[in-house]
Amino acid sequence: MAAAQRIVIENCSIATVDADDTEYATGYVVVAGNRIESLGAGSAPEGLENVVRRVDGTGHLATPGLVNTHHHFYQWITRGLATDHNLFNWLVALYPTWARIDEQMVYAAAQGSLAMMARGGVTTAMDHHYVFPKGSGDLSGAIIRAAREAGVRFTLARGSMDRSEKDGGLPPDFAVETLEGALAATEATVDEHHDASFGAMTQIAVAPCSPFSVSTELLTQGAELARRKGVRLHTHGSETVEEEQFCKELFGMGPTDYFESTGWLGEDVWMAHCVHMNDSDIAAFARTRTGVAHCPSSNARLAAGIARVPDMLAAGVPVGLGVDGTASNESGELHTELRNALLVNRLGAHREAALNARQALRLGTFGGAQVLGRAAEIGSLEPGKLADLVLWRLDTLAHASIADPVTALVFGAAAPVTLSLVNGLPVVENSRLLHVDEDAVARSTRAEAQRLARITARA
Ligand SMILES: [Zn+2]
Repeated sequence: MAAAQRIVIENCSIATVDADDTEYATGYVVVAGNRIESLGAGSAPEGLENVVRRVDGTGHLATPGLVNTHHHFYQWITRGLATDHNLFNWLVALYPTWARIDEQMVYAAAQGSLAMMARGGVTTAMDHHYVFPKGSGDLSGAIIRAAREAGVRFTLARGSMDRSEKDGGLPPDFAVETLEGALAATEATVDEHHDASFGAMTQIAVAPCSPFSVSTELLTQGAELARRKGVRLHTHGSETVEEEQFCKELFGMGPTDYFESTGWLGEDVWMAHCVHMNDSDIAAFARTRTGVAHCPSSNARLAAGIARVPDMLAAGVPVGLGVDGTASNESGELHTELRNALLVNRLGAHREAALNARQALRLGTFGGAQVLGRAAEIGSLEPGKLADLVLWRLDTLAHASIADPVTALVFGAAAPVTLSLVNGLPVVENSRLLHVDEDAVARSTRAEAQRLARITARA
């Protein structure tokens, strides 16, 4: 086999986000094939062979690529609707539109969501997809195809809903699958697409949508399916006070106790939101190593509340960041969530001590890798790990007068991405996507959004 080709990045600041938060004011990173080979202060070692590219990182900060842990790609074509609603009212307003999506729409929406993620420094994306209308085509296949084309590492959380209005749930009857249908389709998606190997580009998780749209049987049997297949489990949890009331009325307990009773706490589980958690809920997550996808912008958009991230971190709960679907976070950018996680949590009980810039960067990188079960592969810049990294430009008007690069990245405006590598391969160069025609995707997503609106209006 030919020796691995090397990319050498020099003269940049580096925040490794390793266990000691090691940083270099000026340093280098050597990438060999799809792995980080070496990094450190000063110049790269001399005499390296097979160097195909040298990058001058002057004025830049190198960090691990950002990891998004919660999203709903299809919502890219239903942005800007029901803008003054809380979660339940917003869902009821949008279900009739969402129930009419098809493969062509979902593919375009996935392209749009992925493009926005990648150009903002995301190297590992995820999609929690839970709307599968009858006859809508191969939605999972279309989403995975879009991720492969964009060049990012990807987890598809195969979602499902089977508790509709007639069973006391929130979605309309026509928007849900049957219990048997959802389980069979989820298992087929795992069998067809899940790659368990080190460095996998595509992984699948089992992901019933939420306590108020899913039967107890689907949660229980979904957990059994995931553990039989050795894949991770994902769902929404403890998002709003209304959800908490729903669980108490229907199940006689709060969401966390309900999840525990259905097998949904564990180190192979991560849950979106977790806003309404008391001390014993947080202790249960810490004891079981259940992960959290913190989505501060979406929680603010839907007036859900402030998740207790500082308390979760102090207790030892793994926490990553998520944009959530773009119908509740129209920007669809993860790098702004670093800033919003810090700002929103400072509005909570811990005030200015809630989070600092380095903790926010850790949430968006290593924390995300932890909750996706990939901390040994990605999330920090260390020799032997996969070469998923971002070179942020910090020497322009937006950031040049901020001395500390991590402060500039987290507190400042969204920084331009000069280079991002996924698995050692460039995905973004000078703020432009290399594998996706951004303007073409802008046109197709607008056309699909209009087509969906027309179909919904006719129904
Ligand atoms: Zn969500």
